[in-house]
Amino acid sequence: MTLTIAKAVYVLLAVGWYIIRIPHERRARRTPISRSARGAREIALLSISFTGLGLLPFIYVATGFPRFANYQFQPLAAVIGTIVAAAALVLFHLTHRALGRNWSVSLDLRESHRLVTQGVYRYVRHPMYSAFWLWAIAQAFLLPNFVAGLSGLIGFGTLYFFRVGQEERLMVDGFGAEYSDYMARTGRVVPRLFGRS
Ligand code: SAH
Repeated sequence: MTLTIAKAVYVLLAVGWYIIRIPHERRARRTPISRSARGAREIALLSISFTGLGLLPFIYVATGFPRFANYQFQPLAAVIGTIVAAAALVLFHLTHRALGRNWSVSLDLRESHRLVTQGVYRYVRHPMYSAFWLWAIAQAFLLPNFVAGLSGLIGFGTLYFFRVGQEERLMVDGFGAEYSDYMARTGRVVPRLFGRS
């Protein structure tokens, strides 16, 4: 494993994610929204997440900037990063497939929105966010640069911690007890091992 290959793996992760998402973006544009929690805060959170997971690592891969933040490349770390990146892409694919027309880039309930509780949504209620955490972890292992490597964890972490409570309130408003019951039996991003937590 070389640094060039590690950078190529990061690019493949981003391209793979984009290819998985294209048909969902198209369908989302055609599917009417009935209730939304979009706003300036959501736009800010999406921008921060995009900067950390996409923009800063892309600039690093393309130009090497910022060089002062470089550290020694470790082939083993890059191998781990590749495995985690592959797991992230598989999970992205499964979550998009399971959510189907109920997916949104932001926080929306669509007309005739269905609560998905099967497939990868059976034990975890935010598996797409699990996949983004895996992306951020893979990025940290693949890119030996403190800025480009860690910006995914910081950028996505900001979106996650500010959004997930609001998303769950939107889901409880829309689905009531059906979502509360679902919350009681699932974990947020990792399956619940010991009953309630
Ligand atoms: N947080 C989820 C989904 C992210 S996409 C995950 O990480 O897998 C965000 C959109 O998905 C929001 O508009 C929300 O209304 C919708 N959503 C979240 N959980 C859902 C579920 N279990 N079933 C259907 N739609 C869901």
